[in-house]
Amino acid sequence: MRDVEKFYDVAIVGGGPAGLSVGSELSKLGHRVLVIEKGRIGDTNRSWIIPGSIIKKLDADVQKYAYNGVRRFLEYTPDMEIKWDSVAPWDSEERWKCYPYIDQRGILTHWAKVIRESGCHVVENCAYIDYAINDGKVILKAVSSEDGNCHRDYEARLLIDASGYSSEIVKKNRIDRKDYFWWSVYGYDIEFDDIETLKHPGSLGNMKVGDYMLWQSFKDVPMDTESTLSQLRPIMEYEVLDEKRIFVFILYYCKNIVEKDYMKNQFNYILREEESIKAFQQGKLIKERFGWYPSNGLSQRIARDRVAFIGDAGCWTIPAGWGMSFILNNYKIYAENISKALKKDELDQNTLNKCTLFNQRRKYEIVMDKVVLHFLAFAKPQIIDRFTKCVIDAFGGGRLETMFCLQMNERESIETLKVVLKEFNLKELFPIIKDENDYLLLLDVAKEFVESGIVDKVRKFLGIEEESAGFEFEK
Ligand SMILES: Cc1cc2nc3c(=O)[nH]c(=O)nc-3n(C[C@H](O)[C@H](O)[C@H](O)COP(=O)(O)OP(=O)(O)OC[C@H]3O[C@@H](n4cnc5c(N)ncnc54)[C@H](O)[C@@H]3O)c2cc1C
Repeated sequence: MRDVEKFYDVAIVGGGPAGLSVGSELSKLGHRVLVIEKGRIGDTNRSWIIPGSIIKKLDADVQKYAYNGVRRFLEYTPDMEIKWDSVAPWDSEERWKCYPYIDQRGILTHWAKVIRESGCHVVENCAYIDYAINDGKVILKAVSSEDGNCHRDYEARLLIDASGYSSEIVKKNRIDRKDYFWWSVYGYDIEFDDIETLKHPGSLGNMKVGDYMLWQSFKDVPMDTESTLSQLRPIMEYEVLDEKRIFVFILYYCKNIVEKDYMKNQFNYILREEESIKAFQQGKLIKERFGWYPSNGLSQRIARDRVAFIGDAGCWTIPAGWGMSFILNNYKIYAENISKALKKDELDQNTLNKCTLFNQRRKYEIVMDKVVLHFLAFAKPQIIDRFTKCVIDAFGGGRLETMFCLQMNERESIETLKVVLKEFNLKELFPIIKDENDYLLLLDVAKEFVESGIVDKVRKFLGIEEESAGFEFEK
């Protein structure tokens, strides 16, 4: 069976947060929108944590899906006792200084409802197969995921790919992702009779709902101590979700995606062998969670004529890989830009690329993205441990999050840089940054802060000619 459905302004592949948020805005702006989703909308019970500064700016109908949240960050490394940092008081006017959770099922279902109530379509159990551009139209081919028999063709003026990290549309267009890094995550929700019974060297026994272990490296699990995050040495994080459940997981940060089975074996091994988290063995593993998300794509412009890429498919991320935070921060402005392009009927590659001129594209933030990313990937664990310790000692763990989420303002950046440069000498830091372009970017930014003669001396010291790092900046 094959039939041509309606003609749409925009066909979106993927009913995750990127596709539905942008789809809901476009439908509210009066465009005819179709979203196809291979599964069921909201069919997952994961929640995300989002910086309060982003939640604060959301419209009330979306903001209401934020609840509770992270109130304290913790850090634990072999060389230090557990460190605590209070993020902010909760349930007060200071509320949004915390890192609230977002109810995923609630927010996704809400966006789908907005799309449907605007007279547009969200089709579930419908998988993308291929597309072609013909006579100024995108012909989208899809198939029912349930029986694989019901083929559907849709026509649209614009195709938006929101199908996530393993996008077939990205592959079809041979989009070069060699600069990307990937966060690979594997873990479990672990249930306890009572969280209070947990014991931990340091003071994990005092963990409360809203505590988040931001950085745990291992003391007892034998691992090559020289290897970096990019060489398959994971870190561990955990968050106390409620009185009974902790979400415990390991993370890798590599050029390639780490296979699930590999992560699973290593997770089990760490859980068994690492003394500092022995208390977790008392709990019951109740729900496996895993996934992959990209990083280092902030400055990429990958649109094609009549085809745009958003969310994980478009590498809408920050160094921490917080794709949902990025989506929430930018979906409205992006949809407004796309709406203007639709109205002018300018849907060429160049115009579509310009629709992604977010706040995060500021030069300084692109620099931070690259540098923080390379630091995390290539620094030896001991260097990262020292780095996190000196930042937490000086400013608290919230500052690390602000840095990894590209939320630091200029004053905080200079303060942090000063503390880091006091802790490390340049010889320790320079070998970590592998890419010469990163030096050029850093020097460009440094020039805005310090007298340019000093920068010229550093250039000379490094043997780097005066030249552009090859990025276009908006401001
Ligand atoms: C374990 C984990 C924890 C995370 N924690 C956080 C956090 O705390 N804070 C934060 O900000 N971010 C977090 N992230 C990142 C965040 O989840 C992603 O960046 C975000 O989900 C990206 O949204 P998306 O819509 O682009 O892609 P996705 O969420 O991957 O959605 C893509 C959708 O497209 C559908 N799809 C795929 N292929 C097809 C096809 N062929 N046809 C039709 N539909 C298709 C999929 O079924 C899916 O519904 C986390 C990610 C993981 C894995």
